[in-house]
Amino acid sequence: MTDFIIDSHCHLDMPAFDEDRQAVLKKARQAGVRGFIVPGTTAARWPRVMDIARSAVDIWGALGLHPYYVDEHCETDLERLTEQVRHTQPIALGEIGLDLFLPQLDEKKQLFYLESQLDLAREFELPVILHIRKANDTVLQLLKIHPVKGGICHAFSGSLQQARKFIELGFCLGFGGMLTFTRSRKLRQLATELPLDAIVLETDAPDMSGEKHRYQRNSPEYLPEVLDVLQELRPESRSEIALQTSQNVQRLFKLDMPDPE
Ligand SMILES: [Zn+2]
Repeated sequence: MTDFIIDSHCHLDMPAFDEDRQAVLKKARQAGVRGFIVPGTTAARWPRVMDIARSAVDIWGALGLHPYYVDEHCETDLERLTEQVRHTQPIALGEIGLDLFLPQLDEKKQLFYLESQLDLAREFELPVILHIRKANDTVLQLLKIHPVKGGICHAFSGSLQQARKFIELGFCLGFGGMLTFTRSRKLRQLATELPLDAIVLETDAPDMSGEKHRYQRNSPEYLPEVLDVLQELRPESRSEIALQTSQNVQRLFKLDMPDPE
């Protein structure tokens, strides 16, 4: 029997999927992926994200201004975001965050958009999908000033201590392609130390390909490979890990899951 899992982070709206989006979804569903969360990146792409979310009962959209595209955002995008959240009802605000790994991304501007969007998430009582690189402690501080209902730290790469602080604030940690690399020792160690009710699976497709698909487009159809690694690392059974990580996503985003066929 195939275990049902949810891809808590896949950018299905991206042009990389324009040629074969339906085929990718079909293959992913056949592999047991029962839900797809598509986070927003820039205002220009929000309509695309929400169109895809509306196109099937197992796809949900989030809206947000991604720190990686900070130069494409403008202040009026925040007003548009408020309006879009009101009218299209995304399940979360995301992908938002702070990326201090890439020096070309203006930190001040990133902080402005992050803090504004955390406040918006609070106003609409929505969880958030966070993208954080080299900034876990800063974001933890910001969450104290701008508390939200929790959410996901996507592609988490911090310490166990930082992970615990996020969990205390209502967050789950997202594990994806990086975990499939045998050299990801620290990450693999972390994945064994966290409670299962704090872990969610993700691909971040079309990026962050796992070991078997290096230099190729990543796809939600490869999500079972993340489950494979967790099964190797953890004491629980494969189906237990599949069920609990899926329930974590459902709980965080209050998803109404379609009945399995
Ligand atoms: Zn992403």
